[in-house]
Amino acid sequence: MDILDLIKSRDPNEREFHQAVTEVVESIKPVLDRNPHYRSANILERIVEPERVIMFRVPWVDDDNNIRVNRGFRIEMNSAIGPYKGGLRFHPSVNLGILKFLAFEQVFKNALTSLPMGGGKGGSDFDPKGKSNMEIMRFCQSFMTELSRHIGPNTDVPAGDIGVGAREIGFMFGQYKRLRNEFTGVLTGKGLDWGGSLVRPEATGYGAVYFAAEMLAVDGRTLKDTRSLVSGSGNVAQYAMEKLIELGSIPVTFSDSSGYIYDEKGVDQEKLAFIKELKNVRFGRVSEYAEEYPEAVYVPVDPTADCNPLWNHKADCAFPCATQNEINPKDAANIVANGVNVVSEGANMPTMPEGVDLFIQEKIMYAPGKAANAGGVSVSGLEMSQNSMRISWSREEVDNRLRVIMKNIHKRCLDTAQYYGTPRNYVNGANISGFTKVADAMMDLGVV
Ligand code: NDP
Repeated sequence: MDILDLIKSRDPNEREFHQAVTEVVESIKPVLDRNPHYRSANILERIVEPERVIMFRVPWVDDDNNIRVNRGFRIEMNSAIGPYKGGLRFHPSVNLGILKFLAFEQVFKNALTSLPMGGGKGGSDFDPKGKSNMEIMRFCQSFMTELSRHIGPNTDVPAGDIGVGAREIGFMFGQYKRLRNEFTGVLTGKGLDWGGSLVRPEATGYGAVYFAAEMLAVDGRTLKDTRSLVSGSGNVAQYAMEKLIELGSIPVTFSDSSGYIYDEKGVDQEKLAFIKELKNVRFGRVSEYAEEYPEAVYVPVDPTADCNPLWNHKADCAFPCATQNEINPKDAANIVANGVNVVSEGANMPTMPEGVDLFIQEKIMYAPGKAANAGGVSVSGLEMSQNSMRISWSREEVDNRLRVIMKNIHKRCLDTAQYYGTPRNYVNGANISGFTKVADAMMDLGVV
């Protein structure tokens, strides 16, 4: 049976997982043709099946003494090149299919970083919005009480993702340490005073901008004096905007799940400080930005609209940094029509397949998330190294390493795409390069 038919018939409801696998399978066809040993060893059938799926009940008590129950997950997808590594997502939309897609993408992303990390992903359908600090803490402790049986610094090292930031990592690390009576690098994204790495919070956003700069540099261009559309206003979006401003680009949009802001004059460092305080300290909504800066326009989400107007503004670059499938085919057409020629994905799989096809057809410099947002997991890998050596590197040291890693990922994707006859197709470059590394390791390790 064809691999896509197989996964669809086995798990018919896992739409996002099918989407992620389809993209990789399409890219690697020429690799399988040139390397029949991958086919005879059934590498594809093995790589789409998680090594282990853990699902568990997460009971917790809210502030009104009600007992609440959420569902917890950890997908241990592939450990051929290192311990499972990938974030935890807390969002009501979380289900097995979404986490399998994220874990699958993570396998190839981590391979691209050149660091020894396998792929995993996890989380819960818990919604942190509107919960008190104490509720968040009780939930995180209950979640970690079960998860702690399955992870460890040499086994599986989770990090943050949507809804899991420094606060949640702190509560989970505290509980792990208490249960195990050991202080180890079992999570990344830790606070600086208790084993974290400098530049980890910044790494994903900075990395997506470094990747865009590398793509432009191929044509001898830079980000200076460009205008950028950014979506999201969380961890990745904030630091993408910070690096854009530093490199001379003007971010003119950002968003959250209730709406988006268009600021014609652009976000500067002072306005960005307001956004960070709004989202990270007060956990507020982006509409407040327009109250603070009246020159900006706030547009609430219209659930009946066939496209997101955020993507319908004149600009040079686009950085989707919110969530999967946030750019539909119409949004992609608007992006192209508005003159954008660089798209660098801070989020995972934010562009729907028809949108990706359009970007490639229109020769947009398009970097898929598994390449462009690999800076986050790369610095997580550097956090693991620092924890193992019990040392801390300086900000410059970590940022320089991040820059070199992003430069190398870009070159690997570029060279691989060229070698396989699809020059500057970063989708093929990333998928083929990540796949061959993991597939070769799986061949070496035998049928396990
Ligand atoms: P955060 O939770 O910090 O921020 C997410 C942002 O996206 C928020 O502004 C949120 O709005 C918005 N958002 C989330 N879900 C939706 C939705 N369904 N519709 C509209 N807006 C939404 O998460 P991160 O910044 O960490 O993650 C953003 C993306 O980057 C995700 O795709 C994640 O997988 C990816 N990523 C993150 C990495 C990291 O290091 N953190 C590493 C690599 C990839 P609101 O405030 O209303 O919830």
